[in-house]
Amino acid sequence: MAATSRSSLAILSIYDSSDDDEPVGSSRVSSKRSLLDTDFQGSEYSSKKQCTNEKKLLPSPLGLDQIFPLTASAPVDNPEQHDGRVRSFPHERGNWSTLVYIHYEPSIVLESFVDVVKVICSTDVGLALKAPDELHISLTRTVVLRHHWIDSFVASVRQIFEAVARFQLTFGSVDVYTNEEKTRTFVGLVVELGQRALQSCVGELDKCLAEFRLQPFYDDPSFHMTVAWCVGDHKTEIATVLPQLNEVFKQFLYTHPEQWTSAVRQLSCKSGNKKYVFPLAR
Ligand code: AMP
Repeated sequence: MAATSRSSLAILSIYDSSDDDEPVGSSRVSSKRSLLDTDFQGSEYSSKKQCTNEKKLLPSPLGLDQIFPLTASAPVDNPEQHDGRVRSFPHERGNWSTLVYIHYEPSIVLESFVDVVKVICSTDVGLALKAPDELHISLTRTVVLRHHWIDSFVASVRQIFEAVARFQLTFGSVDVYTNEEKTRTFVGLVVELGQRALQSCVGELDKCLAEFRLQPFYDDPSFHMTVAWCVGDHKTEIATVLPQLNEVFKQFLYTHPEQWTSAVRQLSCKSGNKKYVFPLAR
């Protein structure tokens, strides 16, 4: 698909594409924060942040500047560089935005369906939707990990999923979502078969997130795969064309039934610019 993705995975890419995203251990690191992370903004981090606003920097003790080198100014967000999206949380040194998800391989049939979705939204409600360039089903919110936690978080998740069996999922309908900040709207294919397995994965992931004091997934999760998106809150407009979108989806289901079933053999995690894969048990 030609257009760029702007759902959870793409949110990570806002940060990935920024100047200060480099792997842990390099001289610069990605920097994001959630409200829940405030516990960890204490002593060493806050004081460093203060330092960045001052012209003369005191030498830092304990060689911290080698771990988190200071820069003269914070990176400037330029929404034009990422299709008008606004960062959900500001850049902060040492924080990596992280998502656990199921990767989904696109097909020509799916791309044709997305083209129809875009045409309907354009002609009926005047919205120019874009297609994602990486399809996925989220199993966590986009959470923010301190960089020194990433390895143990990934190890915990890997351990969990070694014991989880592969499963099948299918899509059954179309729905519309907004992100929590209501700065983006998403059209998604809703998972039908496989919900129980997804719910059980989310249950395990939530326990793991709790250990890292991170926010769990939604209380009422609606497992879906975003297939088109736009900037702004356009849920109401898109809701008016949902019956058409669902009708079209039914036709695609009828004509290409095999295209909407997927065997889930592995889960994925993206943290900053790093990707991890967790194979499921056979
Ligand atoms: P995703 O494509 O997984 O990034 O999801 C798109 C958006 O759907 C995210 O920004 C979520 O916050 C939002 N969303 C809203 N309500 C829900 C829900 N009940 N379950 C899952 N995602 C939701």
